[in-house]
Amino acid sequence: MGLEKLAGPLEQVKEELNHSQQSTKAPESTENGTDLPLGDPRGHYKTDNYEANPNCEVCHGLGHIGYDLPVGHSDFGKIARCPGPGCLDESFQAWKSSDPYMRDKGISRPQQTFESYKKNLANQESFDAMHSLAMGTSTFFFLLLYGKVGNGKTHLANACAVEMNKRGVDCHYFAIADLISSLKRAMSDNTIEDKVQELKELHAVIFDDYKPEFSTGWENQRLEEIIDYRYRNYKFTVLITNRDLGEIPERMVSRFSEPIVSIMVLNTDYDHRRA
Ligand SMILES: [Zn+2]
Repeated sequence: MGLEKLAGPLEQVKEELNHSQQSTKAPESTENGTDLPLGDPRGHYKTDNYEANPNCEVCHGLGHIGYDLPVGHSDFGKIARCPGPGCLDESFQAWKSSDPYMRDKGISRPQQTFESYKKNLANQESFDAMHSLAMGTSTFFFLLLYGKVGNGKTHLANACAVEMNKRGVDCHYFAIADLISSLKRAMSDNTIEDKVQELKELHAVIFDDYKPEFSTGWENQRLEEIIDYRYRNYKFTVLITNRDLGEIPERMVSRFSEPIVSIMVLNTDYDHRRA
C-alpha cells in the first residue's frame, strides 16, 4: 500500500480539525463587531473568509449543526458545518478554492492548473508524476523534477499545490530563493529553530527553483536537514530545479532516489519562452 494513501486522509482529518477549531473559536472574538452583529440574537456566524447564511432554515444563521445521537455514540456532542443552501459548508468550500486561500499557501499563480498546462511528449512524464502526486494516486511521496529553464516546471508546481489544497490536503509552495531569505531573517531574529521545525512538519511542500549556489554553509545544511526529516517522516515533498543532478548535493539527491517512495523526473521539453 502506498504510504501517501495513509498520509492523505489523515491530513484531511487534521485540516478539518484545525478549521473546526477556528470556526468554533471565531464567534468569541467580537472586538470588531463583525462576528456577532449587534441586534442579531441568533448570532449569525461570520469570519473574514466565510460565513453562514443568516436566513438559513437549517441552522438559523448559527452556521453549525449538532447531530441528534444517543449518548455514547462516537459522534455524540460533535458539530458540523451547516450543509444548508448558501450556508457555512458551501461558503467554506468556496473559500478553500479561492485565490486568496491559495495565495495564503504561497501559490502566487493559482491560475496555473493542470487543465491549463500544455502537455506534449517531452513533458508528459513530468505531468503524470505531478498529477498523480496531487491526486493522491502515487506510490511515491518524494519527487524531484528537473529539466531546462522555462519548460513549465513552475506551472506544474502551482498546479500540484492548487489541486492538493482543493482536495483538502494542506500544501505550501516555496520559491527556494524566498525560503533562504526567510531562513536568514529567522536567523537574525532568533526564530530559526521554530522556522525549521515548521518547515519539517508541514504536510506537503513544493520547493521550487533550487539552485545549489543559493545556499552556502548553514542555509544549505538546514535545507538538507528539513528534506531529510521530511523523508524519514513520510511527508510529501517536491523539489524542482533546472540544474543537472550532478550539481545537486549528493545527500539531497539520495533522498529522491529510493525506489517506490521517491521518483526523479526529467522534463525534456524546450524553453517555451524562446518560442
Ligand atoms: Zn445553515
